[in-house]
Amino acid sequence: ACAISPQAIVGDACASYSTLEQLNSAVKPVLDDLVQTTDFFSHYRLNLFHKKCPFWNDENGMCGNVACAVETLDNEEDIPLAWRASELGKLEGPRARHPGKSVQRQELQRPLRGGLGEHVGESCVVEYDDECDDRDYCVPEDESSTSKGDYVSLLRNPERFTGYAGDGAKQVWDAIYRENCFQRSSFPNSADLGQGMTPRNPAAMDFRAIIEAAGRQQALAKQREQNPNTPFVAKTGLEFEDDCLEKRVFYRVISGMHASISTHLCWNFLNQTTGQWHPNLGCYMGRLHKHPERISNLYFNYALLTRAIAKIGPYLEDYSYCLGDRNQDEVTRAKVRAVTEKVISVPPTLDESLMFKNGEGPSLKEDFRNRFRNVSRLMDCVGCDKCRLWGKLQTAGYGTALKILFEFDNNEQPEIPVLKRTELVALFNTYARLGNSMYAITQFREMAQKAQSGA
Ligand code: FAD
Repeated sequence: ACAISPQAIVGDACASYSTLEQLNSAVKPVLDDLVQTTDFFSHYRLNLFHKKCPFWNDENGMCGNVACAVETLDNEEDIPLAWRASELGKLEGPRARHPGKSVQRQELQRPLRGGLGEHVGESCVVEYDDECDDRDYCVPEDESSTSKGDYVSLLRNPERFTGYAGDGAKQVWDAIYRENCFQRSSFPNSADLGQGMTPRNPAAMDFRAIIEAAGRQQALAKQREQNPNTPFVAKTGLEFEDDCLEKRVFYRVISGMHASISTHLCWNFLNQTTGQWHPNLGCYMGRLHKHPERISNLYFNYALLTRAIAKIGPYLEDYSYCLGDRNQDEVTRAKVRAVTEKVISVPPTLDESLMFKNGEGPSLKEDFRNRFRNVSRLMDCVGCDKCRLWGKLQTAGYGTALKILFEFDNNEQPEIPVLKRTELVALFNTYARLGNSMYAITQFREMAQKAQSGA
């Protein structure tokens, strides 16, 4: 029904696998350095335990494994200065509150590069409450010191195998994919359904297209088994040729996120007999290698985040990290610059201007945004704390990327995106997750080839 020909677009990105892999080789060391060595980017504050699953009673879906647990920072001294409640408290008040819509509207009239959050006193953009801005693709994590928040060191809670599986996990993934059924009247989403969600309707058109596409991809996978050198096809948008771009992009973001989570759990897998953590080739073969479209979606997400970071990069020069120490602020800024410079130096990896333009596109935007918000709400239904932590962080990261791409148009209207700290941390950490997944996939691919040749 959409006017855009699938052949003309993105594939759905403008970049090939090898271009993205080359970029990742250049970006990964500096990105890892940023998220692993700065206080600002290695910590996150979120509502991990205090929100109930808004869609169903999830009491039976809880994961009791030790690996599912999250170690929170409960001692004020363990929390980096910039993230302490007392420090956040100082930033509150009328001058330092997250600018509301009126301020943001004023921002729209200001010229480019005016400085992120100049209207908010010392420019520390702190989210004040749980309210959504109209342009948010996520339900924001509450950063205010008055409400309950949980501090975590992302380094001390790595994303890896937890053993969370079974009906609970399946129910969440099913509900997430159900958000992709855009035909609102006949196929309600979880928001429409409220508490008692029904099983997904097998007749849903989007799923039929996906199943058919999966069939075509399986044929491709067979070819690859016979000839392991068969390259991954970059123009992978073709498998959803019945769908329009916007719906396809929605699906790909989710599937790519799912693929990245699967990659991490396979790469950091726990052998429950020996207690050792190691890459599990069988896990990779079953969940990813046999489903090249999942890998393609993960690469697509890398292209999407690359584009978002390239777009926001110049504005971050003026961002105040508010680490309580000028030197530390400068070091953090330099490390962010090391990433953004590399990302900006390559040709655009995605043409977001094609989205929400033609055919039914414009009418889909609000629906797209609301559905993505629902995906972020569904993270409160994840019954494993560590999976919920990384699920929340990554949906916030994708939500931020979508907001940068689709809510700020620096050609038509010079705007300054006002990003909260949680959004920035989520964006760069999600990018780092994807880079890590791509690295793991190339390693797994080599392991698979070796195993096949009997080496
Ligand atoms: P699942 O991964 O549960 O997949 C369910 C179905 O979805 C599959 O049968 C397949 O039909 C389809 N599917 C699978 N992958 C894709 C894809 N990429 N694109 C499209 N369709 C797909 N477990 C951990 O060990 N560590 C974690 O950090 C972790 N984080 C999680 C975060 C979230 C938000 C959720 C919901 C679950 C998480 N889990 C985690 C659980 C993990 O994702 C799996 O659900 C679990 O390992 C069971 O896997 P499964 O083989 O049943 O298939």
